[in-house]
Amino acid sequence: MSETSQLEAWLPRGLLRLRSGSVIPSVTAEGLTPVRLSWSDGRLQEPELINTPADHLNALVLPRLVDPHVHLDKAFTWSAHPNLSGTYEGALEANMNEHRVRDLEEVLSRGDQAMARACQNGLRALRSHIDSLGPGADTSWEALQVLKKQWRDQFELQLVALVPIAHWATTDGKKLAQRVAAVGGLLGGVVVPPCRGASVRRGLRALLLLAEELGCGIDLHIDEANHGPAEGLVQLLRALEQVPCMQPITCSHTSSLALLSAKRLQRLAEQMAAHRLQVVALPLTNGWLLGQSPETTPLRKPLAPIRQLQRAGVRVAVGGDNVADPWFPAGDFDPLALMASCIPLAQLAPWQRLGLSPFTTAAAAVMGLDWDGRIGADAPADLIVLEANTWSEALRRPPERRVLIDGLWWQPGRR
Ligand SMILES: [Zn+2]
Repeated sequence: MSETSQLEAWLPRGLLRLRSGSVIPSVTAEGLTPVRLSWSDGRLQEPELINTPADHLNALVLPRLVDPHVHLDKAFTWSAHPNLSGTYEGALEANMNEHRVRDLEEVLSRGDQAMARACQNGLRALRSHIDSLGPGADTSWEALQVLKKQWRDQFELQLVALVPIAHWATTDGKKLAQRVAAVGGLLGGVVVPPCRGASVRRGLRALLLLAEELGCGIDLHIDEANHGPAEGLVQLLRALEQVPCMQPITCSHTSSLALLSAKRLQRLAEQMAAHRLQVVALPLTNGWLLGQSPETTPLRKPLAPIRQLQRAGVRVAVGGDNVADPWFPAGDFDPLALMASCIPLAQLAPWQRLGLSPFTTAAAAVMGLDWDGRIGADAPADLIVLEANTWSEALRRPPERRVLIDGLWWQPGRR
């Protein structure tokens, strides 16, 4: 069976890498340029710029995308464990109830469904946090490692141990870190207000020491709150002064930073950049969960201040976070739907370089992937082809799409 090895489509100019380094013309006002892409043996050849009248080209091509923050262990648990109040506390309670009754087959089956959706929707890499303390922890790690192996030809799957931050200062925490390091995982944790206690400080210092000693990256759920502005970040920066850590550190959420004054935010963002902290903003879960009240609609939306952080030199990616679990009832591991939601939630416009990078190059860099996602000679033939000729067409409803993996068109059910 012969596979198509060439296509013509609109490509966002910022994602095109030409060998000649020549200036790339932007043909549309949205910064799209028409290209012919060819590939063989799973690798792209040098892209060709083409002259095609706009009405002849109804395809928009992107690299397969990256979601740097998901929770595969609990995806699709909403129907059995809903959180109808929509509050953080309600989510935690439903999550704990679900965690107590997790079994291997169930996590495997839900996780497999999640990976299939992610693949079909055009993702190539996922970083999943795993609830790593309590009765369902070992089961979840076992299941996710099986899935990682089963889906290794389609995905890079990174796994992060999610525990209360104080756990890293305990003997069991140290043992967990060693087990996580042995399978190439990352160390995570929850740092939400109140963050000023000694146990949080001890936990953060222990985490930094373990990460450095074991060579593990860190990815924290930090400042996921609509109060106590940046309390967690302040503690993390203090801990870093005492325990320097050269491993990559990702701060997921950072929502309460939005409540800082402009001046304090700028100072904090500069400190974060100096420590090479990177951020994953999670607008969907934050938009739904934080500030829930039956009486009022919250008028201040706690969300990572993406542009202010970018301006200070902090790398910022955007993730989908929860999919149909107690923390968020919707979602489908769909990077295009996430981009569409981020237009109103975060005012991220994909025709702007810093509006697109959180889903493409910055997301790849946060995960430390080999390929930054730019389309050029010798890049992986890993593409999403959307039936669209403008960004508006691509984002106004879930677009028809074809996904190319390693030079072959993906078909659902194929593994
Ligand atoms: Zn999360």
